[in-house]
Amino acid sequence: MTKCDIVCNNMIVGRLVSHGKEEIVVATIEALRGLVERGSRDNPHLMGRLEKAAFIVLLRPIESLGESTYRVASEDALKSYIVQNGQCECPDYVRHGNGHFCKHRLAVGMLVRLNGRKPLKGGAPV
Ligand SMILES: [Zn+2]
Repeated sequence: MTKCDIVCNNMIVGRLVSHGKEEIVVATIEALRGLVERGSRDNPHLMGRLEKAAFIVLLRPIESLGESTYRVASEDALKSYIVQNGQCECPDYVRHGNGHFCKHRLAVGMLVRLNGRKPLKGGAPV
């Protein structure tokens, strides 16, 4: 992939770190926008969080730690949270309880979708 492929074809690059190796996730801006728009249409109350999740996909590393377990950097990049089996350890998730779609869960769901994988079990509505 050349720089022109990225810029000229509106490609975005997410970073999925797996077993210490960085896996580059390439998708179009349209694909990411589509996930945000579809998720927001189906779940209007999630719109703000879906947009923050898209920001995390674009600018923060998401590390795969094994089966259904991910370390997701926080929006401000100062912390990271473990998302495991559809649960997150962030304060937003803990406050709202089981099944809450925090931005970290949504970000993992988006990156997995953009990477051409099947949606996660108990995963995000994107
Ligand atoms: Zn979270």
